[in-house]
Amino acid sequence: MSVPPDRLQRLIAVAGSKGASDVALEPRDDGSFLVIARIDGVRAAIGTIPPPEAPAALAKLKTLAELPAYISAEVQEGRIDGTPYGIPGELRMAILPTVRGQRLALRLPSVGAVPPPENLGLIPAITTRVRQLFRRPQGLIVVTGPTGSGKTTTLHSFLTDLARERPDRQIITIEDPVERRLPDITQIEIDPKHNLGFAEVLSACLRHDPDVIVVGEVRDPVTAAACVRAALTGHLVATTVHAGRAGEVVPRLLEMGVDPTQLMPALAGVLSQRLSRLIHNACGGAGCSGCTDGFRGRRPVADLLMVDGPARSALLAGHAPPLVADMDIQAAALVNARLTSEREIDRVVGADNG
Ligand SMILES: [Zn+2]
Repeated sequence: MSVPPDRLQRLIAVAGSKGASDVALEPRDDGSFLVIARIDGVRAAIGTIPPPEAPAALAKLKTLAELPAYISAEVQEGRIDGTPYGIPGELRMAILPTVRGQRLALRLPSVGAVPPPENLGLIPAITTRVRQLFRRPQGLIVVTGPTGSGKTTTLHSFLTDLARERPDRQIITIEDPVERRLPDITQIEIDPKHNLGFAEVLSACLRHDPDVIVVGEVRDPVTAAACVRAALTGHLVATTVHAGRAGEVVPRLLEMGVDPTQLMPALAGVLSQRLSRLIHNACGGAGCSGCTDGFRGRRPVADLLMVDGPARSALLAGHAPPLVADMDIQAAALVNARLTSEREIDRVVGADNG
């Protein structure tokens, strides 16, 4: 006997069909859940689970993730199959006890195949130069930007391109989590519970003779130093760092204790990216059933720093390095062409968007 989909299942399916990256159940004082989805990077309430249904809805998801439903005062993590929600792949679940009860967050997998670099929406000058960076035999490439700015999609796109053109190069990625599976690329998911953090997996994968190594994120000094060392010893290393604009990456890595005399020769380029929502053409931004708040689709704006002689001197002197491409210029062009609004640009490129 098949069970009809419940309210929460329908809400998750709708969020998935709109390309949401996250869905959360926020407990409220009356015992209900507010269901929040992040679509095109923006949080929006998409429904509620009323108090009589809320405990069962939570228990059902926890059971699907094989988490004990009776534990309510602990942080819990698990995964559920997306198939019942029409979502290909696994949804990662995280539970946090709050004063109003358990908050449940679901991370949805990226949908569809990775776009080729030309279809990412970057300006051609950036696409060409970043492709050149990925063709280098060694060095460090850093992609930066806030959560949800498309860093992983950009990395996956250029890697897939490289894997297709250079099947002789062995590519290994270390990710948290593996958001999409890439053909011909060895992907490893970190597992801190089993002592497999970024640094541990990086050290282990060097024994497998990689040419290109992608470290999902550098968050600590040990991983930062290991990336730089690998980039100086015949590997191309690409990673992401939580920093604001392209010029802030070097100070951020130095803060983490990376030796500047090693960093400077290793660093090849920095891409700093944001995603701006685009005004929906059909309704002119007024808002309609085909868009969210007048926006539909997103396009990246990005800084590109190529670390050559002049840029290296500027960075060593603590000055702002010259950029090959500047996201402020691309953002202004989008506003001028009425593809997006000034307010949207403030939201994604604003000063507090580090
Ligand atoms: Zn519209």
